[in-house]
Amino acid sequence: MAEVFVTRPIPNRGIEILKAEGFDVVINEIARERAATKEEMLAALGQARNEGKPFSALLSVLTEEIDAEIMDAAGPQLKIIANYAVGFDNIDLAAAKQRRIMVTNTPEVLTNTVAEHTFALMLAIAHRVSEADRFSRAGLYKAWGPELLLGTDVSGKTLGVIGLGRIGSRVAHHAVKGFGMKVMYTDPKPNPDFEREYGAIYAASVDELLPQGDFVSIHAPLLDSTRHLINEARLKMMRPTAYLINTSRGPIIDEKALAAALVQGWIKGAAIDVFENEPEITPELKTLDNIILTPHIASATAETRNKMAVLAAENIIEALEGKIPPNLVK
Ligand code: NAD
Repeated sequence: MAEVFVTRPIPNRGIEILKAEGFDVVINEIARERAATKEEMLAALGQARNEGKPFSALLSVLTEEIDAEIMDAAGPQLKIIANYAVGFDNIDLAAAKQRRIMVTNTPEVLTNTVAEHTFALMLAIAHRVSEADRFSRAGLYKAWGPELLLGTDVSGKTLGVIGLGRIGSRVAHHAVKGFGMKVMYTDPKPNPDFEREYGAIYAASVDELLPQGDFVSIHAPLLDSTRHLINEARLKMMRPTAYLINTSRGPIIDEKALAAALVQGWIKGAAIDVFENEPEITPELKTLDNIILTPHIASATAETRNKMAVLAAENIIEALEGKIPPNLVK
């Protein structure tokens, strides 16, 4: 029976589905608590193959780079790489295409959860929730004060969305319907239907959008064209009262420039779930009160992680049955 290599342990639900279909599943146990190094991945694949197991499928997570060497180490039967994420910037798509290996992701099932986390960050930075929590725990709360830890309202403000795809448009929906915000967005593909439904305004470029947002939230994929999209010059285009939120991918922001922006007051605050060199975080950011840092958990609810595991397993099953899997990345 076909063999599936899982690069890091994922929720059991997905593994059970694969086993119930009769697949042999090899889980890279070394990566239970941390990401596997490339050498460890190659060693694990090599060991399994020495035992006579060329893999037909890789179930990968975003902490592992899946490049040509890993694909070749998995064996010549490799037909599918099913990523346990909607982003797939950890996979060398050109190398996969060259080898006629399908690549799939897990869209839709995490959209609501990531949109919720985006709002959790936006509300928390505007209302200084993390800072106030640290203040209270430190025993600094001596008396209620008329100007103690003053924050900023979210309602009625302008949200600038960079990337109005599945997650960006859900965030915009919550912003308009839940908080009476105005929405401006930029995306290579304008969406007139969305503009009509939500009264959203299209900005032809990031440069046009940035000066107009009270909050700017990034939902674009990591591509060569979006790496350091938010750099020093662009941070300086934002309002000094504005907040930057990022739940997309870390390298879209130049993290050193962000630290400068927060120290120099080019912007008021930031809340980010993703980092330029994960799991490293630019040390200066950790010293600042006007930023909230979460460790890439925007999709991390029990419900959603289970759904992602099921979807990744279903993509593998369809592909190995010779069908087009539902979430083929094109
Ligand atoms: P999507 O493909 O539906 O939306 C992405 C949108 O960005 C598209 O509309 C696309 O046209 C647009 N875009 C592309 N290049 C752009 C550019 N240069 N400027 C502005 N917009 C641009 O994807 P999605 O499901 O909404 O997910 C978005 C991203 O969120 C993923 O690529 C992933 O990296 C990230 N993500 C992060 C987490 C997390 O845990 N923090 C979880 C899920 C997704």
